[in-house]
Amino acid sequence: MRLDKLLAHSGFGTRKEVKDFIKKGIVTVNGEIAEKDKMQVDPQTDEVCVNGEVITYEEFVYYMLNKPAGYVSATEDNLYPTVVDLIDDYYRDDLFPVGRLDVDTEGLLLISNDGVLAHQLLSPKKHCPKVYYAKINGIVTNQDVEAFFNGITIDDYQCQSAELKILSTSATTSEIEVTIYEGKFHQVKKMFIAVGKEVTYLKRIRMKDLCLDNSLQLGEYRHLTDEELDRLK
Ligand code: URA
Repeated sequence: MRLDKLLAHSGFGTRKEVKDFIKKGIVTVNGEIAEKDKMQVDPQTDEVCVNGEVITYEEFVYYMLNKPAGYVSATEDNLYPTVVDLIDDYYRDDLFPVGRLDVDTEGLLLISNDGVLAHQLLSPKKHCPKVYYAKINGIVTNQDVEAFFNGITIDDYQCQSAELKILSTSATTSEIEVTIYEGKFHQVKKMFIAVGKEVTYLKRIRMKDLCLDNSLQLGEYRHLTDEELDRLK
């Protein structure tokens, strides 16, 4: 890979900043001062140093983000800031959200550059469970639980069986947890519309065996632990 890309992806600065480091002569490759930002290096076998400090390169990175409302699950958008904009401890340009949460949905979102893992988690064939907590305008009943279990119909599409758990109800509202095994656009909201109710707050709390770390405030993120990553794969 290109030397400037390796340095940027290792957290040394933007592409422009690392090009300046190379110009200043503070970057070495296998002991020789690097002269060209385009120089090809192999992160596995070449020793790259900045100011004498050997850099360590991670090919794949995995972040757990507690997504706040107001951010779009994309890498670029004309209207809203993106979830990738929230990740600021790396200058990587290859990160993307693994799956989508609506702009007003909060909670667990994986941000990575690992396309293979993303495919495994998002492929409809894998039936990866996703668990959401929601506040509902309306009283969720045992009939709704049964309807979710039998598969709600949205337009012409019959959803797969989903597990709906009623956490509490008051005179006009309910709190629920729902597990779905697919990821259609606005799926949870549409499933509730189909039973005559409205989702007023939605938060993803689990994806496969990965639970949202409750110590993360909205907008905060952290690296996945090795154990969490193993459980996702
Ligand atoms: N279902 C929805 O309706 N919205 C989300 O963000 C995720 C699942």
